[in-house]
Amino acid sequence: MVEVTCPHCSEELELPDGAFGEFECPMCGEEFVWGQQPVEVVYNLPKEKGLTKVILNIFAFWTGFTLFATIGLIVGLIVAIYFFALILGGLAN
Ligand SMILES: [Zn+2]
Repeated sequence: MVEVTCPHCSEELELPDGAFGEFECPMCGEEFVWGQQPVEVVYNLPKEKGLTKVILNIFAFWTGFTLFATIGLIVGLIVAIYFFALILGGLAN
């Protein structure tokens, strides 16, 4: 057990070892946050989520870019072949 001082009424409370999160003070009924662990958990979780999000964004961006480049290449080839055929046809006449 750990002894905690309520930030609202300054009464001493007992919490289980390693406890963290929101607690309701039995003396004054006010809620307070206790523990060092949630700070780490809260700090680490968005970091991993953020990194995953960044990787997903890069992947999505790269997929989009590759798709765009492939379509651009195909359209460019068709246009080039069309103009080449047009020039050849013009020369033949
Ligand atoms: Zn209290």
